[in-house]
Amino acid sequence: MTTHDVVNPATEELVRTVDLATVDEADEAIARAVAAGPAWRALAPADRGRLLRRFADAVGEHVEELAQLEVANSGHTIGNARWEAANVRDVLAYYSAAPERNFGRQIPVAGGIDITFKEPLGVVGVIVPWNFPMPIAGWGFAPALAAGNTVVLKPAELTPLTALRIGELALEAGLPEGVFTVVPGKGSVVGARFVSSPSVRKVCFTGSTAVGQGIMRGAAEQVKRITLELGGKSANIVFADADVERAAATAPYGVFDNAGQDCCARSRILVQRSVLDTFLEHFEAAVKRVVVADPRDEATEMGPLVSAGQRERVCSYVESSDEPVDVAFRGGAPAGPGYWYPPTVVLPRSPADRVWQEEVFGPVVAVLPFEDEADAVAKANDTAYGLSGSIWTRDIGRALRVARGVEAGNLSVNSNSSVRYSTPFGGFKQSGLGRELGPDALDAFTDVKNVFISTE
Ligand code: NAP
Ligand code: MG
Repeated sequence: MTTHDVVNPATEELVRTVDLATVDEADEAIARAVAAGPAWRALAPADRGRLLRRFADAVGEHVEELAQLEVANSGHTIGNARWEAANVRDVLAYYSAAPERNFGRQIPVAGGIDITFKEPLGVVGVIVPWNFPMPIAGWGFAPALAAGNTVVLKPAELTPLTALRIGELALEAGLPEGVFTVVPGKGSVVGARFVSSPSVRKVCFTGSTAVGQGIMRGAAEQVKRITLELGGKSANIVFADADVERAAATAPYGVFDNAGQDCCARSRILVQRSVLDTFLEHFEAAVKRVVVADPRDEATEMGPLVSAGQRERVCSYVESSDEPVDVAFRGGAPAGPGYWYPPTVVLPRSPADRVWQEEVFGPVVAVLPFEDEADAVAKANDTAYGLSGSIWTRDIGRALRVARGVEAGNLSVNSNSSVRYSTPFGGFKQSGLGRELGPDALDAFTDVKNVFISTE
């Protein structure tokens, strides 16, 4: 039997050993999901909604337990981890209203009536990365279940603990066996099986662009539906007319939250040249104030990276890079065991630098100046990615022009927050395909059926 040792990233101590599923075990879970499908989709909409509300309540009653598990497994700060568990509860509660509101349309036609239905797809496979194990799982399974699909979910090998517990809570809340099954295992085994199994009708994937491209290729074989949420290299654009102090004071949290392991991280900061020095002065003070410490501590703002491998990857952009990188200033990080890396601000020599172009997925941010509005938009768009971004200005016309000009799915003005479960989330360009969350999320888990009824 293959196993994975879950290691606490803040202490390097063993937390638990998890059995990893084989292809046969993945197939068994998929078969149970197929078997559970007809009864689940036939449930009265209000009853499916009621079960999802009970599931939400069960998660809500276990927020603290789930948060503590995430701190131990992923090194997330306790404050973040509580938010993440509560997000699963809230997303379930939001979509528990959806079964009764999964409307089709009545379309005027000659000779009869025409109506559309949003039919569930069948079994949905959700593949989750290690950076936000709880929220990203919930954004997939909650609307998928609400739409009448059954779900198999593969957590990242590194971070399976909260997903396994949420799978138990689903059963405790009364979801029938097989409706929602968590299958811990390797991406190359369980994840790949979700893609190749003809019984899985849709794959909802979040992770790296490279693996996402492979999933897209694999899905082509069966014209399998996919949603892809991939990487990002989002820009935080600060205009001279903005509240520059506020932009600088909040910028660390726009990139160093979750130790920078966030697809929405504003890892490129573009500052209008006339205020660059002022910005950097306030930004330096703010970066040095970020509390990097034991993630169990209530006051901690940033914990360790998820693994030794991830720390090595982050180092490769700053310490052992073939390209010389100028470090402007850094925050602190604890010494001793744990996969720590300090908040780091670098000044690229050109927009072609690797650290300006590639997703570091760690607490490293690069700063470059821009000249005017057109230059800001051009520099922001000079990337293969297009997930998020921020625009700081007091000029409302400029805010809207730039928001429309930046090729990204989720922008915020005078704010660095990109995710609300009631609004759509997803990427332009190589940041992804399709949208999650918001009022239309069930569209990604249904196919439209058109029925014409003759009245003649
Ligand atoms: P990843 O390799 O893309 O993994 C994401 C998920 O896909 C994991 O559950 C993984 O399983 C699974 N997977 C891997 N290979 C697969 C395959 N061939 N078929 C099906 N599923 C497969 O990402 P990662 O290794 O966690 O992180 C690498 C980089 O990706 C990061 O440094 C970052 O740049 C980016 N990333 C982006 C996001 C995001 O939210 N956009 C999230 C995570 C990572 P295993 O974990 O078991 O391999
Ligand atoms: Mg990987």
